[in-house]
Amino acid sequence: MKLNIGFDDTDSPRGGCTTYIAALLVERLHELGASFLDYPGLIRLNPNVPWKTRGNGALCLRIECKESLLDEIRECVIQAIEENADLEYKGTDPGIVFLYGDVPNEIRDFSRRAITGLVSMDETLSLIKKYHAEAIGFKRGRGIIGGLAAIGEELKDDYTYELLAYRVPENRGTKRKIDAESVIRMDKELGSLVFNNFDYEEGRVLITPHGPDPVLYGIRGETAEAVRRGHELVISREPIERWVIFRTNQGTDAHLVRASTISEIKPYNPVRVKGVVSEKPRTIHGGHVIFKIKDETGEVDCAAYEPTGVLRKIAKKLIVGDVVEVYGGVRPPSSGNPLTINAEKIRILKLAPDLIYRNPRCPICGKRMKSMGRGKGFECKKCGFHGRDLKKIASERPRKLKLGLYITSPRSQRHLTKPLVRYGQEKNGPPEFLGKTIPYEMISGR
Ligand code: ZN
Repeated sequence: MKLNIGFDDTDSPRGGCTTYIAALLVERLHELGASFLDYPGLIRLNPNVPWKTRGNGALCLRIECKESLLDEIRECVIQAIEENADLEYKGTDPGIVFLYGDVPNEIRDFSRRAITGLVSMDETLSLIKKYHAEAIGFKRGRGIIGGLAAIGEELKDDYTYELLAYRVPENRGTKRKIDAESVIRMDKELGSLVFNNFDYEEGRVLITPHGPDPVLYGIRGETAEAVRRGHELVISREPIERWVIFRTNQGTDAHLVRASTISEIKPYNPVRVKGVVSEKPRTIHGGHVIFKIKDETGEVDCAAYEPTGVLRKIAKKLIVGDVVEVYGGVRPPSSGNPLTINAEKIRILKLAPDLIYRNPRCPICGKRMKSMGRGKGFECKKCGFHGRDLKKIASERPRKLKLGLYITSPRSQRHLTKPLVRYGQEKNGPPEFLGKTIPYEMISGR
């Protein structure tokens, strides 16, 4: 019997973590006698939905078990959510979905839309009914949407892995004790097999979160072996309760859908879109840079928000006429601001010549002339020569910008943002193990 278990929205800013519940369940379901058909799925949903949970990650476990075990397994999942979700927190509305057998195409499509746009509770519930899935919602039960979306994303195209190591309960909420040198060594040894571990610009470890959640660190990479090796290389000065390897859509740009024209851009639907810079970038309060791009169908604002990173510096150097492709989430118009793309990446496709116009030199004495007003020519203050037909002289300033792709610094990248190091490493098919079971020891340990 094949069972897909999806769940979401169990955490709150005060602590807890939906991945941790998945980690506990991996162990419990293994003990009950279930086998795993995949690594646990950590599916990041559209980061631009207005009601997103922290990180907006939903979880899915795909197992095979005897039919006689089903009741016990369902009970075990419900109990784990009840015990570990932050149910008292307003806005934490957990949901669980059980789907038997293979994932129908319609649920795959639903999932795709939950990652790239908006889906409603109504359509979630009608799919659950249509495919005889079961849903359990706590409080408002919003997590049911993410639960079903996690089930529908089987990661058959591009995907990555993340190994999450968890802290023992008594250490949660305290400063994490990780040897930074060992993180750098691990990053160097594994090279492009791992990503976003260390910020060399700021000298900062990126594998550790900062909140009160139970995660000690997360190592992101291309293969399960690489993240496992990374875990062996990182030195922790505090005990690790357990670790689990997740298969995930992190670092794949799965949320960005190419819009062929600017008029296609819709609020809350992350895009990548081409346009010509149509207004000189301006820096607003807080140091953010705003510029406009247009095509024959319309114009849209683009914002480079990150306070210190590369993207803002690049955006500042754009000039009218540059051809760019902007990638990012779309914010609806609000309080005087128009529809805006929050840029995660900018690809510079063509640089316009940066022309400056200067007054001509006097043909008699060589002195730079003064304008006599629009259309009235120029006069020389030194020798008195009047040149009625003289025009301003254009000269081209060198551009301090190169063509290419620019991405927000790793420290401000979203979970879904594909980092530079992953370009060229994209997968375009399901992993080899799909269809077999994966030994528990490869998924989780202590
Ligand atoms: Zn002169």
